Amino acid sequence: MENKVSKIGILTSGGDAPGMNAAIRAVVRTAIYNGLEVNGILRGYQGLIEDDIYWMESRSVANIIQRGGTILKTARCKEFYEYEGRKKAYENLKKRGINGLVVIGGDGSFRGAVQFSKEFNIPCVGLAGTIDKDIYGTDFTIGFDTAVNTAVQAIDKIRDTMEAHDRIFIIEVMGRDAGYIALHSGIATGAENILIPERKTDIEDMVHSLQEKERRKKLVNLIVVAEGDNFGGAEELHKVLKERMPQLEIRICILGHIQRGGSPTCLDRLIASRMGYHAVECLVQGQHNVFIGILNNQMNYIPLSEAVKSKGHINEEWMKIVKILAS
Ligand code: ADP
Repeated sequence: MENKVSKIGILTSGGDAPGMNAAIRAVVRTAIYNGLEVNGILRGYQGLIEDDIYWMESRSVANIIQRGGTILKTARCKEFYEYEGRKKAYENLKKRGINGLVVIGGDGSFRGAVQFSKEFNIPCVGLAGTIDKDIYGTDFTIGFDTAVNTAVQAIDKIRDTMEAHDRIFIIEVMGRDAGYIALHSGIATGAENILIPERKTDIEDMVHSLQEKERRKKLVNLIVVAEGDNFGGAEELHKVLKERMPQLEIRICILGHIQRGGSPTCLDRLIASRMGYHAVECLVQGQHNVFIGILNNQMNYIPLSEAVKSKGHINEEWMKIVKILAS
């Protein structure tokens, strides 16, 4: 493939996230501004393999900046894990003369892009589109702010009824491997306990504080749990607590997929627009196979292969804040 990028493909892959559309819009319009041709690839790597690709113009992305989901649709694609699948994808790009790729997705999607670019010398740029925020090299991922605000709004409502009845509530938020949604939404709603996959929960400590509250007849307690915490989410935690304190009435609410949908917040639209713009700038300037993050409000380009090596880290101070503010 020649080095100068003239025709790019764009796809969204893995879990969807609000703000992906704003990123698509930014990529398409910046590419056209730079004289590049843009092709939308439907359903992530699946569409690349099946040649489900269409030409995009400026109007193709009109009126989408405020919409959740992704107009390019997304998918998980088994075939792309295999060399044969990736070869088919490459043949389709070659046939169409597409010589640059923008991938909007999570770290799995980036792993696919790293492999693909290594094998077939296609320049790829990655944008973090994931509600989980578990990506190294960036303070923000597209979709996180919207998801966490949706969780906060829902938890606030549950807190109203919880307080009215003096109840204990366990609210499960998304996060199989990452606790950022739980941690941020839990702190923002004044949760007494926040359980995340990155930390082992001290159940004795929790039972002790509930017993203490019971003794004082003040049994209002909000527990926010990520689905992948060490108990395995709200239902499992409920079982453990009921075994230890069968007399307690504990309610559960699993927020589920509402956290993925909805109109992106201003912050998500902004970071998606900035990242989308920079993705094209990178391709045009010959900075290939990079991941575009934002650190300390500055754009941060790191090799895509570095971005998949490690996850972000939960700051210990945040855990301390949870404990102190809940006391
Ligand atoms: P996310 O991008 O949200 O982390 P996944 O982990 O499901 O979501 O990855 C999305 C897709 O990326 C997968 O369905 C697969 O097609 C591709 N992919 C992920 N990891 C690899 C890999 N190691 N090699 C090739 N393709 C991969």
